[in-house]
Amino acid sequence: MCDKESKTKEFKEKLLLSKKSGIKRLSEEEIAKADAWCEDYKVFLDNSKTERDAVEYSIALLEKNGFTEYECGKKYNAGDKVYVNNRGKALIAAVMGKKGVSEGTRLAIAHIDSPRIDLKPNPLYEANDLALFKNHYYGGIRKYQWLAIPLALHGVVSLLDGTDVKVNFGEDESDPVLCISDLLPHLAYEQVTKPLNKAFDGEDLNVLVGSRPFSDEDEADLVKLNVMNILNQKYGITEDDFLSAELCLVPTYKTKDVGFDRSLLGGYGHDDKCCAYPAIMAAIDVEAPEYTAITVLCDKEETGSDGNTGMQSDFLRYFINDLAKAEGVEGYHAISKSKCLSADVNAAYDPTYASAFEGRNSCYLNKGVVISKYTGHGGKGGTSDASAEYMGEVRRMLEKNDIIWQVGELGRVDLGGGGTIAKYIANMNVDTVDLGVPVLSMHAPFEIISKIDIYMAYRAFFSFFE
Ligand code: MN
Ligand code: MN
Repeated sequence: MCDKESKTKEFKEKLLLSKKSGIKRLSEEEIAKADAWCEDYKVFLDNSKTERDAVEYSIALLEKNGFTEYECGKKYNAGDKVYVNNRGKALIAAVMGKKGVSEGTRLAIAHIDSPRIDLKPNPLYEANDLALFKNHYYGGIRKYQWLAIPLALHGVVSLLDGTDVKVNFGEDESDPVLCISDLLPHLAYEQVTKPLNKAFDGEDLNVLVGSRPFSDEDEADLVKLNVMNILNQKYGITEDDFLSAELCLVPTYKTKDVGFDRSLLGGYGHDDKCCAYPAIMAAIDVEAPEYTAITVLCDKEETGSDGNTGMQSDFLRYFINDLAKAEGVEGYHAISKSKCLSADVNAAYDPTYASAFEGRNSCYLNKGVVISKYTGHGGKGGTSDASAEYMGEVRRMLEKNDIIWQVGELGRVDLGGGGTIAKYIANMNVDTVDLGVPVLSMHAPFEIISKIDIYMAYRAFFSFFE
């Protein structure tokens, strides 16, 4: 090799983006470690299809690992582990830091709601001797993906006598399932000529729940009556009780390895449980951190983070205020000095839909945890856009801990867009950036992620807390 060539090579290595990235940087042992770590995530995901399920499962996990319910006014010491259950739909887990909260906290915030189909307050009706439920979809779904797949019913019904009845129907192997019907291709000639947003109507997502009459009498609505009778026997509910219920239709699928090489994970609700689980595990695994480590699992992200369990609510602010008050510090000082990893997913580059992405700034499966400096749409609308300084801080942390990472933008400029909870935390005067896992087929009933990437997300949250 002549001098000129070696100099080019040397300068390329020194000055240009490193080509060897992602999984190629990992040893066999590290890959095996990631694979093994993912086995527990599969169980978490299968048990966390709705935010209520995720909170219940996470609290059990936290309690098993020494967390107790937070008591306002109680004196806590460094290393103490507490949790706050916000209405069974959002959760805070905190490990008290050596420095207290006067110098700020470390926040990892993920959401545990996922796109799905919710029952309307008056769901049950009968048409042509079939019983069906009326629904209103929750979050951004591609409606056609929810037709002709097996669905389970999860949620709670609050009765007049004050009892709250938990519903979990369709998950057991022996349970029947529910299903939304689809039009046969033979009779879809007209439908297929419509644009996609017109071809599937929100009011057509009616789910089939029964077809046999209660009796052979000549009465109306006997199939509906039969379904109501079964629900009454199983859950003690009447039709009026639907008015005070939250019932959600979710896919019955269990999480599966995907690919001949088992490198990927397919399942329902990776967005955003593939960040929620690493964030909660980081809180569980961190011992006596410098700064108080706070994992928040929030609700309502998919519908705009409104409501008392979403990140536009004050529940996190109040919690930090309480911690600060116990130390004689103003809550807003503790909040202003805090730093946040908004733990949410980004769209993995899909070679089949390459034109939706800008390849140089997309994230890819198996290239590690993805940092999204900004989200939003068209001209960076509706995003907090992390500062160069905070990006630098996170980058140094990842490099120092040998965590495989990449940057990612949500698709091509002006094609669409989306947001996360990052801006709501940044609005509290907290340094915030999105860090999460690349997802293929995001918001589909069966989303795909890489085992390496979710494991790197766990390592990132752990290092951030440590
Ligand atoms: Mn998300
Ligand atoms: Mn989402």
